[in-house]
Amino acid sequence: MKIREIEAKSILSKSQVYDYALNPYVGCAHACVYCYAKFMKRFTGHAERWGDFADVKINAPELLAREVKKKKTGRVWISGVCDPYQPLEKRYMITKKCLSILAENGWPFTIQTKSPLVLRDIEILKSADDAEVGFTITTADEKVRRLFEPGAPPVQKRIEALAVLHSAGIRTFVMIAPILPGAEDLAVELKGKVDNVFIDRLNYHYADWLYKKQGMQWAMDDGFFLQTGKELLKGFKKEGIECQVLF
Ligand code: SF4
Repeated sequence: MKIREIEAKSILSKSQVYDYALNPYVGCAHACVYCYAKFMKRFTGHAERWGDFADVKINAPELLAREVKKKKTGRVWISGVCDPYQPLEKRYMITKKCLSILAENGWPFTIQTKSPLVLRDIEILKSADDAEVGFTITTADEKVRRLFEPGAPPVQKRIEALAVLHSAGIRTFVMIAPILPGAEDLAVELKGKVDNVFIDRLNYHYADWLYKKQGMQWAMDDGFFLQTGKELLKGFKKEGIECQVLF
């Protein structure tokens, strides 16, 4: 893993999902094969494969401390094009420092991650006026997870982390995107651990080669997404969990 410390020029960027996005890192060690953020590599000058490099925005907390004073308060999405709790965060704590600044200044934020490392910062989350945590979970089948998300934490660890956050009174959601084989069982697994769920199909083609190599082309088909989306919607409704299918 090639790690580089860099100085960013600004840290709160415009977002189409929330008011702002904050990415403490460029690149992501979780190395998901389907990752839509791979386009970021173009802007880095890195020759390594996606998942084999990360740039650490070492001055992110200082920038944020200044920007929250100057910019209009709005919801911040952490992160968007990297996982804010990828393994490097253990050492650098850039995400943690940024969360503290947002919480102290009363800014709302939404974390999206695949890592239970977020639990380290639970006290900051509890102290914030408006914090929510989303986990991306694409399958309940650990074999499928290992194929498509080789560097990310196991599914059960994510579900356990959600349970801890939810029972601590922190708003939680799950993003099932892209729906992978084995996602059908998630409605039962997530019962009592999330406030709401979003579901989306595969929208990018970075992982086509892996589906083909594994003889899983059937899981790239419109029929698979429609059928599984329907089953999930029904399952979550049955468990009393609000669910939105985005396709
Ligand atoms: S965790 Fe998210 S940003 Fe990181 S590689 Fe996976 S999909 Fe991409």
